[in-house]
Amino acid sequence: LTELAYLPTIDAAYLRRFNARVTALPPGGVVLDRTLFYPVGGGQPADHGTLQRGSDPPVPVVDVTKSGSHVIHRLRRKSGGGATWALGDEVTGEIDWDRRHRHMRLHTAQHLLSALLFARTGLRTRDALFGQDRGRIDLERSLPAEPALDAIFGEANTLLASGLPVRIREVPRAVWDRAPAPRSGLVSLPRQIDPVRVIEIAEVDVCPCGGTHVRSTAEVGTVSAEPVVPIPGGVRVPFRLSEGGGTPTPSG
Ligand SMILES: [Zn+2]
Repeated sequence: LTELAYLPTIDAAYLRRFNARVTALPPGGVVLDRTLFYPVGGGQPADHGTLQRGSDPPVPVVDVTKSGSHVIHRLRRKSGGGATWALGDEVTGEIDWDRRHRHMRLHTAQHLLSALLFARTGLRTRDALFGQDRGRIDLERSLPAEPALDAIFGEANTLLASGLPVRIREVPRAVWDRAPAPRSGLVSLPRQIDPVRVIEIAEVDVCPCGGTHVRSTAEVGTVSAEPVVPIPGGVRVPFRLSEGGGTPTPSG
């Protein structure tokens, strides 16, 4: 089992360096007892960064995946690093913060946009994906009228700028099942998930999520709409992050 050290609080998503022990060495990769590296999933790409043993040169981490309850860090093959690592070795990890922080901004922006799209059109988000400075939201059906999108993005930017706090809450599964958030009904939660980790954007959204988010919507900057794309059974709403913005709020 790998402890997901980025997960328990909103502040934990801001940690960049950690120490851990090697617990398995699958070909080309390493499993640690704990990690700050986010493994690809839920629309959010994997973190990149480095792992370093002692005074050895840092070894680049080029992909991170989850396998059951283990997180596998894929090491850059050409670097030759990691070849002499053994079970129990202590390593220091550092995540690529620019990349991670963009993912945090995009992820919070996506939740807010999905909430507003649901509130204004009744359409739920079927799937979402983001990377670099862009994201996309796949809706369950076609949009009633495209011009409504301008108003929704305008509203999103007003709310982002107002600095709404983003919080993590744990809700007992039985409580969640009695009254789940309406926009979240499309994807069923695996049975074993209890409690349900929800990301709450004050007054605007509640959504189960295992991703990393910013502390305040002001940190996102602004979002702009790109032309929608019809997809089988629905519509894709692409968006991009503004340049600038994205200054991390001070640690609480
Ligand atoms: Zn999410």
